[in-house]
Amino acid sequence: MRAVNFGVIPNISRTFSKDVSLDMFRRMCLAKYFDLGLVEAVKGDLTRYLVYLSLGQEATAAAISKAVPEYMLFTQHRCHATYLAFGGDPAKLRDELLGLSTGTSGGRAGSNCIQCHGGKITMFGHHGLIGENVPLGVGAAFGSRKPTICFFGDGAAEEDYVFVAMGFAVTHKLPVLFVCEDNDLSILTPTKVRRSWSMTKVANALGMPAMDIADDPWTIFKKIQKLKCNLPAFINIYACRANWHVGVGTDGPPEWDRFKMVKNELKKLGLEKQIIQIEKKIQDEMEKLWDKKRLQKLLKK
Ligand SMILES: [Mg+2]
Repeated sequence: MRAVNFGVIPNISRTFSKDVSLDMFRRMCLAKYFDLGLVEAVKGDLTRYLVYLSLGQEATAAAISKAVPEYMLFTQHRCHATYLAFGGDPAKLRDELLGLSTGTSGGRAGSNCIQCHGGKITMFGHHGLIGENVPLGVGAAFGSRKPTICFFGDGAAEEDYVFVAMGFAVTHKLPVLFVCEDNDLSILTPTKVRRSWSMTKVANALGMPAMDIADDPWTIFKKIQKLKCNLPAFINIYACRANWHVGVGTDGPPEWDRFKMVKNELKKLGLEKQIIQIEKKIQDEMEKLWDKKRLQKLLKK
């Protein structure tokens, strides 16, 4: 069932305005070049924490942040793209990873526990127990009735408290969007070795709309716009991590490269000039953000 174009609506990019398409691409660039700068900082032994990179999985956050920018966010590891796409300050995230007091959690939490309360976004990270952000997000939605997204991975989907929280959300008709970023791996173990069932079918059986799709940003945007009218809902998005579960190494080439595919699609739409400009601008900004001399200066303070 997992495939690069699974569930993708043919020619959907043509139905979007250029502005929306380019802004989703800009958000993908931000996540990509932030993490590429971080990779060099890790190699230079300048960071304080283990890192969980969003590289390869940028499209999901870019599309969802564009479709539902106002939602409360409950994330787990591999959430740099989510923080950045929803409007988080890249310098604060960098500082967090350097262990500086100017970081998102005062430099005390690291990559998987990005906290951002007030300002552009409301985001709660997790503390180490995989999937714990799901019941926490459901509880927050129950108390506040604010629209909420719980992001988790295909490994976390196997935790019993995730099911229980999803069932509770159905019972109380809570405005929660459950997003599974499905890279088909729990650390190093593929889904087919771990389970024979589908999380989408479980969510459906609990009584919420649920679907599987690949990480085409235009399709994700369209599907989320429909699902948000019928919450709680579940969306399982097939994506490919480019780097290890934790750290900056790679296991080899990923199954597909969505960033490259999105660029090609934008070129077909006649936007080549614009995407070159956007990519160059973000690349330059992130190079400055992660400049080695600048980091060394910050760390000496
Ligand atoms: Mg996974």
